Amino acid sequence: MKTLGLIGGMSWESTSEYYRIINQVAREKLGPAHSCRSIIYSFDFAEISDLQHSGNWGELSEKMVEIAVRLEKAGAELILICTNTMHVMAEEVQDSIGVPLFHIADAVAMEIRENGMDKVGLLGTRFTMEKEFYSKRLKEKHGIKTIIPSEEDRGIVHNIIYKELISGQFLEKSAEQYFKVIEKLKNKGAQGVILGCTEIPLLLSEVETPLPLFDTTRIHARKAVELILEER
Ligand code: GLU
Repeated sequence: MKTLGLIGGMSWESTSEYYRIINQVAREKLGPAHSCRSIIYSFDFAEISDLQHSGNWGELSEKMVEIAVRLEKAGAELILICTNTMHVMAEEVQDSIGVPLFHIADAVAMEIRENGMDKVGLLGTRFTMEKEFYSKRLKEKHGIKTIIPSEEDRGIVHNIIYKELISGQFLEKSAEQYFKVIEKLKNKGAQGVILGCTEIPLLLSEVETPLPLFDTTRIHARKAVELILEER
């Protein structure tokens, strides 16, 4: 088995899910005593969030590159960025290392295609919903069209992530708000919805929603282990 390198802490709530899932998948595929070889770097998320909200993407990019290089030096053979948003600088990260970076949008695109869909809603931070890096990759590389919520709903979705989810608060009233946004995405023609923020699945895990959901945390973590096992 190859070794996974995880760039995490964004937030740690979702990185702990990655850790749980990669080990469960290794156990499922290899047998009960097995677990996944991995190295995790965990950021202090407050530093990351401040830089994001002040638009300091250059400095964020330097930080991500530095950690990816350190993980490679430590022996990681496949790198995961354990957040959707911080794929803004995925290309710079990939260009700075000699091992593959497994892009979260590629992982979720494979799953969407496996489910026969090509038009999906996208929920995530404002950065993920509004910047081009995510929807453009889905469109150009995978032929998948994304539909995003209205300006007002994007604000609701974004604020719940940064005010609640990243500090471990998962409130029923927020799940209800997400439910309403998903209903509107359905009315706009979405066949399913990408939970394009790695904490959203923690909020919606118990909720019946009007559309099938693509949980980026679970999909990214699972497919990464399948990849490193394929290459055994
Ligand atoms: N984990 C979230 C995501 O998947 C938000 C935190 C971040 O900004 O990285 O986008």
